[in-house]
Amino acid sequence: MKLPQKLLNLLILIVLAGCTTEPATQQIPTPKKEGITFKNTVVSLTFDDGDVDNYLIRPILAENNIRATFYVVSGFTGSDGYMTEEQLHGLYEDGNEIGGHTLSHTKLTDVRGDELKKEVCDDRANLMAYGFEVNSFAFPYGHYDEEARQIVIECGYSNARIVTDGPDTVPPGDAYALQAMPYIVSDSDFSKMFRYVTGVEQEGGGWVIFVFHHVCDQCDQYAVDIDTFSKFASWLSNQQKNNGLIVKTIGEVISGK
Ligand SMILES: [Zn+2]
Repeated sequence: MKLPQKLLNLLILIVLAGCTTEPATQQIPTPKKEGITFKNTVVSLTFDDGDVDNYLIRPILAENNIRATFYVVSGFTGSDGYMTEEQLHGLYEDGNEIGGHTLSHTKLTDVRGDELKKEVCDDRANLMAYGFEVNSFAFPYGHYDEEARQIVIECGYSNARIVTDGPDTVPPGDAYALQAMPYIVSDSDFSKMFRYVTGVEQEGGGWVIFVFHHVCDQCDQYAVDIDTFSKFASWLSNQQKNNGLIVKTIGEVISGK
């Protein structure tokens, strides 16, 4: 078989290049530990409904110096499957935020007038009566309309989170419709959560709001298992310490603290 002259020349060049004994002055770049430096990305971890299993992550958050926002349905507090007032206080004492999520997890577009007001304002009043400063709200199922939004403002909230269209920006386009990343569900693994954060930085930065529900191993469709969460929290903590990532509660981002 006869190789065309051009290809033959190329092969000779490659072989020659391989043979050169240039001094090893070539700079070998130090590999970056995590491959990314965060300049413009803020992460908020939010947990909806006040499920009792959420309390399991209190030590994980504390160990990693991370604070999260817990949206509580005050009408369920202390009932079967939900955190008690004492557990909420534990989270709050660690610097986590307690936010409102209505009195009985009502889809706010289904109720009007006084009922709507009661769902939002009485829930906030309950949480404040527990002794919490309550500024952040999350619409159950992410459902809202102009009337619901107006009530949230009237009840004294500084912001409200929906469940789609993330990432958002800092400051957000609309503080009463904070845009979140898709729900974390039982098959959301570490790499998916990692990609939510790094992907946003690579696109120029933004506010990456995570929506968690249950914390358990496959107990629910909307669950993260504790090992996955633990791994993610430790990664976030590391990025915050070394690579410029910012992890804050919703209230902290909105108030600029
Ligand atoms: Zn909910």
